[in-house]
Amino acid sequence: MADYYQEMGWRELEDGEQPNHLLHMARFLIDFGLYEDNFTGEWPRLPPAASKEAVKNLKEFVIEKESDKNCPICLKKFHLNDKAKEMPCQHLFHEKCILTWLDQTNSCPFCRFELPTDDEGYETFKKEKKRAEQRREDLETLHNSMFS
Ligand SMILES: [Zn+2]
Ligand SMILES: [Zn+2]
Repeated sequence: MADYYQEMGWRELEDGEQPNHLLHMARFLIDFGLYEDNFTGEWPRLPPAASKEAVKNLKEFVIEKESDKNCPICLKKFHLNDKAKEMPCQHLFHEKCILTWLDQTNSCPFCRFELPTDDEGYETFKKEKKRAEQRREDLETLHNSMFS
Protein backbone atom coordinates (compact mmCIF):
# COMPACT_ATOMS: atom_id res chain seq x y z
CA MET A 1 0.00 0.00 0.00
CA ALA A 2 2.80 2.40 0.88
CA ASP A 3 4.41 1.69 -2.50
CA TYR A 4 1.23 2.57 -4.24
CA TYR A 5 1.16 5.99 -2.63
CA GLN A 6 4.81 6.57 -3.40
CA GLU A 7 4.22 5.73 -7.01
CA MET A 8 1.46 8.25 -7.08
CA GLY A 9 3.94 10.79 -5.78
CA TRP A 10 2.00 10.93 -2.56
CA ARG A 11 2.91 9.97 0.91
CA GLU A 12 1.10 9.47 4.12
CA LEU A 13 0.53 12.54 6.20
CA GLU A 14 2.70 13.12 9.20
CA ASP A 15 1.25 14.02 12.57
CA GLY A 16 -0.33 17.41 12.46
CA GLU A 17 0.21 17.76 8.74
CA GLN A 18 -2.59 19.03 6.59
CA PRO A 19 -3.57 17.28 3.38
CA ASN A 20 -2.05 18.89 0.32
CA HIS A 21 -5.03 20.79 -0.95
CA LEU A 22 -3.12 22.14 -3.87
CA LEU A 23 -2.47 18.65 -5.16
CA HIS A 24 -6.09 17.69 -4.77
CA MET A 25 -7.16 20.82 -6.48
CA ALA A 26 -4.68 20.25 -9.27
CA ARG A 27 -6.07 16.79 -9.86
CA PHE A 28 -9.54 18.20 -10.00
CA LEU A 29 -8.46 20.83 -12.49
CA ILE A 30 -6.64 18.33 -14.67
CA ASP A 31 -9.61 16.00 -14.63
CA PHE A 32 -11.77 18.76 -15.95
CA GLY A 33 -9.16 20.17 -18.29
CA LEU A 34 -9.21 23.48 -16.51
CA TYR A 35 -5.65 23.74 -15.47
CA GLU A 36 -3.67 26.59 -16.91
CA ASP A 37 -0.57 28.08 -15.46
CA ASN A 38 -0.71 31.81 -15.78
CA PHE A 39 2.60 32.42 -14.14
CA THR A 40 5.03 33.37 -16.90
CA GLY A 41 8.09 32.80 -14.74
CA GLU A 42 10.30 35.52 -16.14
CA TRP A 43 11.65 38.53 -14.35
CA PRO A 44 11.19 41.36 -16.83
CA ARG A 45 14.61 42.92 -16.39
CA LEU A 46 18.09 42.26 -15.12
CA PRO A 47 17.88 40.87 -11.58
CA PRO A 48 18.94 43.39 -8.92
CA ALA A 49 22.34 43.66 -7.25
CA ALA A 50 23.55 40.94 -4.90
CA SER A 51 22.96 41.60 -1.21
CA LYS A 52 25.83 43.33 0.58
CA GLU A 53 25.90 40.51 3.08
CA ALA A 54 26.30 37.85 0.40
CA VAL A 55 29.05 39.81 -1.32
CA LYS A 56 30.86 40.28 1.96
CA ASN A 57 30.77 36.53 2.55
CA LEU A 58 32.39 35.56 -0.72
CA LYS A 59 35.66 33.72 -0.32
CA GLU A 60 38.73 35.84 -0.91
CA PHE A 61 41.97 34.76 -2.47
CA VAL A 62 45.29 36.21 -3.43
CA ILE A 63 46.66 34.57 -6.53
CA GLU A 64 49.83 32.81 -5.48
CA LYS A 65 51.10 31.69 -8.83
CA GLU A 66 50.68 32.67 -12.43
CA SER A 67 48.15 30.57 -14.25
CA ASP A 68 46.55 30.31 -17.66
CA LYS A 69 43.10 30.83 -16.27
CA ASN A 70 41.18 33.89 -17.31
CA CYS A 71 38.73 35.92 -15.34
CA PRO A 72 35.40 35.39 -17.12
CA ILE A 73 34.50 39.07 -16.77
CA CYS A 74 37.53 40.95 -18.09
CA LEU A 75 38.98 37.92 -19.89
CA LYS A 76 42.44 38.74 -18.57
CA LYS A 77 44.63 36.22 -16.82
CA PHE A 78 44.98 36.02 -13.08
CA HIS A 79 48.40 37.35 -12.20
CA LEU A 80 50.54 36.86 -9.17
CA ASN A 81 49.19 38.77 -6.16
CA ASP A 82 45.93 39.66 -7.89
CA LYS A 83 43.04 39.73 -5.49
CA ALA A 84 40.32 37.30 -6.44
CA LYS A 85 36.95 36.21 -5.13
CA GLU A 86 35.17 32.91 -5.45
CA MET A 87 31.43 32.60 -5.94
CA PRO A 88 29.56 29.77 -4.14
CA CYS A 89 29.43 28.02 -7.53
CA GLN A 90 33.25 27.94 -7.29
CA HIS A 91 33.90 30.30 -10.16
CA LEU A 92 36.81 32.61 -9.62
CA PHE A 93 36.98 36.29 -10.60
CA HIS A 94 39.18 39.28 -9.99
CA GLU A 95 37.90 41.00 -6.90
CA LYS A 96 37.36 44.27 -8.70
CA CYS A 97 35.57 42.61 -11.62
CA ILE A 98 33.11 40.59 -9.58
CA LEU A 99 32.38 43.42 -7.12
CA THR A 100 31.50 45.72 -10.00
CA TRP A 101 29.40 42.99 -11.56
CA LEU A 102 27.50 42.07 -8.39
CA ASP A 103 26.76 45.71 -7.88
CA GLN A 104 24.66 45.47 -11.04
CA THR A 105 23.10 42.04 -10.83
CA ASN A 106 23.15 39.07 -8.49
CA SER A 107 24.15 36.11 -10.63
CA CYS A 108 27.45 34.53 -11.59
CA PRO A 109 28.40 35.81 -15.06
CA PHE A 110 29.64 32.37 -15.92
CA CYS A 111 26.88 29.99 -14.82
CA ARG A 112 24.13 32.35 -13.59
CA PHE A 113 24.22 30.98 -10.07
CA GLU A 114 22.23 33.49 -8.05
CA LEU A 115 23.22 35.17 -4.82
CA PRO A 116 20.53 36.52 -2.51
CA THR A 117 19.59 40.16 -3.06
CA ASP A 118 18.41 42.97 -0.81
CA ASP A 119 15.46 43.52 -3.11
CA GLU A 120 12.22 42.39 -1.49
CA GLY A 121 10.27 42.42 -4.70
CA TYR A 122 12.76 40.21 -6.43
CA GLU A 123 13.02 37.80 -3.51
CA THR A 124 9.24 37.45 -3.52
CA PHE A 125 9.32 36.87 -7.24
CA LYS A 126 11.93 34.12 -6.80
CA LYS A 127 9.80 32.41 -4.16
CA GLU A 128 6.77 32.58 -6.43
CA LYS A 129 8.79 31.16 -9.27
CA LYS A 130 9.97 28.29 -7.12
CA ARG A 131 6.42 27.61 -6.02
CA ALA A 132 5.25 27.62 -9.62
CA GLU A 133 8.00 25.17 -10.55
CA GLN A 134 7.07 22.94 -7.65
CA ARG A 135 3.48 23.10 -8.74
CA ARG A 136 4.45 22.07 -12.26
CA GLU A 137 6.48 19.17 -10.88
CA ASP A 138 3.60 18.05 -8.71
CA LEU A 139 1.32 18.21 -11.70
CA GLU A 140 3.74 16.28 -13.87
CA THR A 141 4.10 13.56 -11.28
CA LEU A 142 0.39 13.46 -10.98
CA HIS A 143 -0.12 13.48 -14.72
CA ASN A 144 2.41 10.71 -15.30
CA SER A 145 0.92 8.56 -12.62
CA MET A 146 -2.54 8.97 -14.01
CA PHE A 147 -1.91 8.71 -17.72
CA SER A 148 1.05 6.39 -18.17
ZN1 LIG B 1 38.75 40.28 -14.20
ZN1 LIG C 1 29.40 30.36 -11.48
